[in-house]
Amino acid sequence: MAGNSFTEYQKNALEDVCRLIFKEFSNTVGVAFLKLDCDCIKLAGVSSTGDQSSPMMLVSGNPPVIDESTGAETTPVCEICKDDSLGVFRTKNRGIIWSNKKAVLSKQIRNKVKAKVFDSDL
Ligand SMILES: [Zn+2]
Repeated sequence: MAGNSFTEYQKNALEDVCRLIFKEFSNTVGVAFLKLDCDCIKLAGVSSTGDQSSPMMLVSGNPPVIDESTGAETTPVCEICKDDSLGVFRTKNRGIIWSNKKAVLSKQIRNKVKAKVFDSDL
């Protein structure tokens, strides 16, 4: 897993989302992530050609809370993201989590994918 700056909750949530993306979008070789300064994480699958292979997903910086009256789990809305609709200019940390099930891509290809993903506005 990339980055040690995630909370335990986020690491687990990220793992779940990555697993889902790798499973549902079979041309995905990695999951690109942007961690914003509010601790929310934006992420999307990328293909070996550096194209987006899945819809954009979000892991909130706020852990889910249990609603005491219904017992349902809800994730609090991030007020900062709500205001600027996930401003990428607030990115603190970014990277790609590569699939460990696919054939390993050469460093050259990885760098190409990275350059394409992060030069564009993911
Ligand atoms: Zn946020």
